[in-house]
Amino acid sequence: MDLDLQGIGMTSRRTRERLIARLREKGITDPQVLDVMLATPRHLFLDEALAHRAYEDTSLPIGFNQTISQPYTVARMTEALLAAGPLHNVLEVGTGSGYQTAVLAQCVERLFSVERIRPLQEKARTRLQRLKLYNVMLRHSDGGMGWPEKGPFDGILVTAAPAEVPEELLQQLAPLGRLVIPVGGDLQQLKRVTRQEDGSYVTEILEAVKFVPLLSGLVR
Ligand code: SAH
Repeated sequence: MDLDLQGIGMTSRRTRERLIARLREKGITDPQVLDVMLATPRHLFLDEALAHRAYEDTSLPIGFNQTISQPYTVARMTEALLAAGPLHNVLEVGTGSGYQTAVLAQCVERLFSVERIRPLQEKARTRLQRLKLYNVMLRHSDGGMGWPEKGPFDGILVTAAPAEVPEELLQQLAPLGRLVIPVGGDLQQLKRVTRQEDGSYVTEILEAVKFVPLLSGLVR
């Protein structure tokens, strides 16, 4: 899918090319992920005062004590989710700025994304519409509960860290579905949990990460 970047300008493409080169150096290899991140204007997902830093490989504040994830982390998680082949029905927990949402939406058929802070969700909605990413459905809810009406999911990606993998998310995985999730408190690990055909789960530890905590309770 090609993003409609009319009126957004091509000037940032060169800075994005440098970012993509950096992601390659850090070990990202999935060509689809690299292509999509090259095409996605991350500066649109930041407030104006920080937009000039959009193509640094770093997380940045988005208000409400939350952060837009580091591009390397977005690439790594998307790659980890997609590694076993194309995904059709996918859940994201923690829409935040909507940047990871935009990247993932271009890699899967249908994406459902939940966020607990309404003002962040509304901003993300406007940005995703501006990019004409119409295969995304957003909801203001506690993502620790998943989105049972839209499941089961062949992929679930979580961008805030719970202390333990939520049981509800495991239950909403389709057979051979996979969950990519940061787990822990001060020390967190990025994990990939794959549901086997017999209903059991296999967990892989991917790397050390640092995410904001997964919290319950909605902010209006
Ligand atoms: N992927 C986002 C990351 C935002 S930070 C981005 O790159 O912009 C994590 C987000 O998860 C925050 O917006 C936070 O409000 C949200 N979050 C935390 N706990 C949540 C929960 N239980 N349900 C839904 N969203 C949650």
